[in-house]
Amino acid sequence: MWFRRDLRLHDHPALSAAAAAGPVTALFVLDDVLRRPSGGPRLAFLYRSLRALDADLRAAGGRLVVRQGRPEQVVPAVAAEAGATSVHVSADFNPYGAARDDRVEDALGPGTTLVRTGSPYAVAPGRVTKPDGTPYKVYSAFYRRWREHGWRDPADTNAPAIEWADTDPGIDIPADPELAEGITLPVAGEAAAAATWARFTPDRLAAYAEGRNRPDRDATSRMSVYLKYGAVHPRTLLAQLGPHDEIYRKELAWREFYAAILHFFPESARDYFVPEMKRIAYADGAQAAEHLQAWKDGRTGFPIVDAGMRQMRAEGWMHNRLRMIVASFLVKDLHIEWTIGAKYFMEHLVDGDLASNQHGWQWTAGTGTDAAPFYRVFNPTAQGQKFDPQGDYVRRWVPELRGLTGADVHEPWLHGGAPGYPAPIVDHKKERQVALDRYNEVRAS
Ligand code: FAD
Repeated sequence: MWFRRDLRLHDHPALSAAAAAGPVTALFVLDDVLRRPSGGPRLAFLYRSLRALDADLRAAGGRLVVRQGRPEQVVPAVAAEAGATSVHVSADFNPYGAARDDRVEDALGPGTTLVRTGSPYAVAPGRVTKPDGTPYKVYSAFYRRWREHGWRDPADTNAPAIEWADTDPGIDIPADPELAEGITLPVAGEAAAAATWARFTPDRLAAYAEGRNRPDRDATSRMSVYLKYGAVHPRTLLAQLGPHDEIYRKELAWREFYAAILHFFPESARDYFVPEMKRIAYADGAQAAEHLQAWKDGRTGFPIVDAGMRQMRAEGWMHNRLRMIVASFLVKDLHIEWTIGAKYFMEHLVDGDLASNQHGWQWTAGTGTDAAPFYRVFNPTAQGQKFDPQGDYVRRWVPELRGLTGADVHEPWLHGGAPGYPAPIVDHKKERQVALDRYNEVRAS
């Protein structure tokens, strides 16, 4: 069993399939191609997830074999050592993962088969299509068909009953990379995922539809980090939703939709989904570099933007409303290309996921599926006033503003400013017009 984005022992169809085929060796391969773009927080979370999986495997009578190198070399080597006739995986649908699995399949040779069972999604990307077999490009239509298609019940994987093979354990799970001071990450592993879900249900789930846009409340599930590495299968969550939990089901469906879009349009990880938007003009030069740095540091002088960016640095996670606000600000107020912001997010987010991140950015930048029309430009101050009405979220993350009470925190410039906190680096009204002018140029050309 070659584990990848499925670091758990329950509801695990690929592990069940491996166990049905004979004694099981549990393998994880540290692949530098995937390690390189991951920032410290996500790597630390991965290593912690691996340690938790190893502990769970040991409790069930097995252990995790960890090796480092190119999967097309490492996996056949371990399969040969174990005398395996099959290598079991959950299918990967990301562009790199799918090509890697094809290479491993070829390298395994005729005596050993690569068996793909299940995927990190309720419905495998590629299954939900229009009646003529072409992909949905609009979420609402995808959602209707995805819902009709349905998904299997959780798999009944019984790890303690599995016969585990004994293989050379390989290398130690690496020590966590050094993290900047003050970073707190969620607890990793399958038990932590279950505990996080138990904390969310039933009360927070019942209040989710009303509270999910409020970053000042602890109103969302925080399951994204666990879904990222498969500490839980989304079907396990879907199986616990009732008819009243439609809004939460729809959020999980966004993850499935973006995975399907990336599967059908692998180039959309880097390229504009709406090609004509490629022509839009962006800022460059010294001032753009300064603006980008201020955005990264949470020092733009727009309190809600700065609070979001600082939350991401401190927790490796940012509330969805904030992801939209800071992304819009980078693209439409600072006129910096969405790809630059997307890369920065991937370096800092523990839940950093190619499909959800790139398409979340494209959506906000007006270049993606169902794109928020480009001309709808978020006003960061109004967003703060609406979604953080008492200013508690801003005060939590921007200590320089703690001297301001209530919603005053969203407009420090009207209240004498705050020591150590910058004045706004741009004039929103003016930059909004610049963004609209650039957009109109593209439309006219
Ligand atoms: P909840 O509100 O509790 O939602 C439950 C689950 O539904 C989430 O865990 C997630 O799996 C899924 N979900 C919710 N909203 C979305 C969405 N818009 N797109 C895809 N899935 C969604 N999500 C990631 O998992 N990884 C990313 O790298 C990522 N980057 C993003 C970048 C931008 C610019 C934007 C606008 C959104 C991004 N999202 C990403 C989506 C969303 O912000 C996070 O999934 C969510 O904030 C995670 O917190 P939660 O688990 O408490 O969410």
